[in-house]
Amino acid sequence: MSSLTNFRLSAARIAVPLAFGGNSQQQHTYFAELHRVGMITQALGICAYSLTWLLMPDPYHPILSHAVLALLGMLASLAVRSRCTTLRVLTITGACAVLSLTFGLRTMADAVGDAGFWVLPVGVFMTLAIASIFNGGLSYLAVVAGVWWNVGHGLYPVHAGLPDQAWVPLMIVVSILFGLALNISFSLLRLRNFHAKQELTRLAFQDSLTGLNNRRMFNQGAQLLHAGQGGAPLHFMMIDIDNFKKINDLLGHDIGDEVLVRTAAIIATEAKGHLCGRLGGEEFGVVFTGDRDAVCRFAAALVDTVYHSFHPERAVSISVGIAEMDRSQDLGHSYRRADASLYQAKHLGKNRYVIA
Ligand code: GH3
Ligand code: MG
Ligand code: MG
Repeated sequence: MSSLTNFRLSAARIAVPLAFGGNSQQQHTYFAELHRVGMITQALGICAYSLTWLLMPDPYHPILSHAVLALLGMLASLAVRSRCTTLRVLTITGACAVLSLTFGLRTMADAVGDAGFWVLPVGVFMTLAIASIFNGGLSYLAVVAGVWWNVGHGLYPVHAGLPDQAWVPLMIVVSILFGLALNISFSLLRLRNFHAKQELTRLAFQDSLTGLNNRRMFNQGAQLLHAGQGGAPLHFMMIDIDNFKKINDLLGHDIGDEVLVRTAAIIATEAKGHLCGRLGGEEFGVVFTGDRDAVCRFAAALVDTVYHSFHPERAVSISVGIAEMDRSQDLGHSYRRADASLYQAKHLGKNRYVIA
């Protein structure tokens, strides 16, 4: 692979956590991971805010309408978040909750008089505390900008009791950079976790040699179709490569594998829109949705296509056994009848189909 392609690949991998949240499948996974942790963080935020309000010493009174507005903002975000189903809404409600909380804390700080003192502790704390709950550096940075505006507007340059005022912007910048690094690390971990899960799913449900559904996945799909109500009739097709042992013995296992891969590709292309999979060894299955005439035409074409795609380079052919799927019987019944038809096709000379 060229270095340019390598660069593009790594850029694409890094770009994902900086953007909103990856493709729709990734967003779905991140949603599941962030939903609960976000709810807990938000509930903790509401408790902390309510406690701060309750424990405020007597002479200090925050502006009631502001304090209530902040609490309502947090409660509304929590209510919407508990029912939302997309990462976009999750991110927006998270942002609303954080901004409501910082608005509320600023209201408290204003009430105690020396509001400038609280800019750094509240701003730094919030910047770091929310690093894990936003997926994507851009959404995180947007919320962080809102946080610092909420806690500090009208108060910059911040006093903070420090003799050297240059420390204040430095601490703000460092906390934002540190928070961003944390946020990207979390996002990268989520991305890596996503790829690992995808790979495991692929290994669990895909045949590693041919890329078709493996037996487990095929059976699950067949069960679903079999259990489905109404619609077009279904036919179960069992496909077996003829004299495959001979191909292996005469030409070697590698060529045998190549024949398997090519045959699988032909089946996948021809059976587009129908369920197909590798049942094991040199056997494949197709659940064909259509009537008897349609499945016969399909099987005849498939037998012909396989034969002619290898001929005259190699003598490769398939035999196909077909049975209509009877929904009043279990799935095993259709398998057995298709297998019996396949046996008959072999018996009649191979390179053909037989329908029960
Ligand atoms: P028939 O025409 O009656 O189907 O005979 P056949 O030789 O195709 O059937 P048989 O069941 O005797 O042989 C199947 C062979 O498939 C035996 C096994 O070594 C081979 N085989 C199974 N899985 C693989 C694989 O993944 N790769 C390769 N190269 N061979 C495989
Ligand atoms: Mg076989
Ligand atoms: Mg065979």
